[in-house]
Amino acid sequence: MGGTGPGRVLGPAPRRWAIGPLLGLLVVAGVCTAAVPAQRGFQARVAAAAPAPRGNTDTAAAARLTAVRTLLDRRGAALLRHDRAGWLAGVDPAAAALRTRQAGLLTNIAAVPLGAWRYTVEPGDQAGRIERGGSWTVLVTLHYTLRGVDSVPTERPVVLTFTARAGRWLISADDRTGPGGSTTWRGPWEHGRLLVRQGRHSLVLAHPANAGRLAGFVAVVDAVVPRVWQVVGGRLPTRVAVLIPDDQKEMSALVGGHLVLGTIAAVAVADSVDTARDRAVGQRIVVNPANIDRLGALGRRVVLEHEVTHVATRGFTGPAEPIWLVEGLADWVGYSDSGLPAHQVADQLRAALRAGGWPGKLPVAADFRGDSPRLALAYEEAWSACRLIANRVGPAALIRLYRAVGTAADPAAALDKQLRATLGEGTAQFTASWRASVRAEFG
Ligand SMILES: [Zn+2]
Repeated sequence: MGGTGPGRVLGPAPRRWAIGPLLGLLVVAGVCTAAVPAQRGFQARVAAAAPAPRGNTDTAAAARLTAVRTLLDRRGAALLRHDRAGWLAGVDPAAAALRTRQAGLLTNIAAVPLGAWRYTVEPGDQAGRIERGGSWTVLVTLHYTLRGVDSVPTERPVVLTFTARAGRWLISADDRTGPGGSTTWRGPWEHGRLLVRQGRHSLVLAHPANAGRLAGFVAVVDAVVPRVWQVVGGRLPTRVAVLIPDDQKEMSALVGGHLVLGTIAAVAVADSVDTARDRAVGQRIVVNPANIDRLGALGRRVVLEHEVTHVATRGFTGPAEPIWLVEGLADWVGYSDSGLPAHQVADQLRAALRAGGWPGKLPVAADFRGDSPRLALAYEEAWSACRLIANRVGPAALIRLYRAVGTAADPAAALDKQLRATLGEGTAQFTASWRASVRAEFG
């Protein structure tokens, strides 16, 4: 079967393969995190490159900016109060298809508990791009929060084209390529009507096709969140948001089109991460509808506990945190109350040891790509390394080590230092200890 990897069998038992097809979360975080500074950088460039406006041009541009900002302020307020007329008042009547989609968006999002929804046009974006006929295409930032999930608004790019109609600037398109190659981010509400189910620790969103899954996901997330919070500690959101897209196209739109999704069961994404403030913004767990049913109930629980661990640790996971620590910790937490014996979790490791030639190296980012032939093995290697640390010095020390490395300026040096302080051996010696322990336990 495409993408499931050689030698892996799809069956009903919650074997290690069931968890193998998880994404290297750091890859997603890295890309998503990079998107925000890249936009800011772009804005700065546009500001620098834009010719200084003069005279009438200056006045007209300032008036246009004021009009557009006013329109966007009204639009945000209208969406929050479900005011259909107010929401559509800013859309060009001549843009029939856009009006239909915008009306649909308001219906689709009606049940979603939004805390904030507003737009800004940053100073650097004012240059925008003038099209034939005088339309103005500009990069706008959407700021929104899901209540109980987001402590601060997350920021997403929206490219809007404004056209003057009878002296008013109205939105005439949202599908153009904006300045710097930017394109509009489309949330789950642009893919169909959303049904919402909230639990004590969960906010689950799905379209009607997946209505039957809502209660089950609420129950699982509510069950795993307290346990993850207990292990990880720190500053944590009230609720974790879970999105269930209808298909792979929507899944790609929500997690980024660069991911190979064939073997991935779920992905945890964030829009930005600031380890200095221990803060990750816009965190969502996105479930892959194509693969989640391949897991049994226990497998689904382990997958969600794995992803919730990423949510809990993301604020102190820097882009250079070793991926074996990121995925290993999530898998270790996910499995540690699963009741699965270690030799069953280490299915691929045992097979690799039996076959001979196991390299015994801590896995790197390439091993966690969705199309990596050693994806499942890499998860087990990472899991076993984190489990070894937890078994030797306890879970709290493992979390402290993870945090110290993830927030360090030089993670490689920090890892060596932390391993010495925690286990009394540096990275090379720890790797040798881990290799020996894996051979002793699973060989
Ligand atoms: Zn993961």
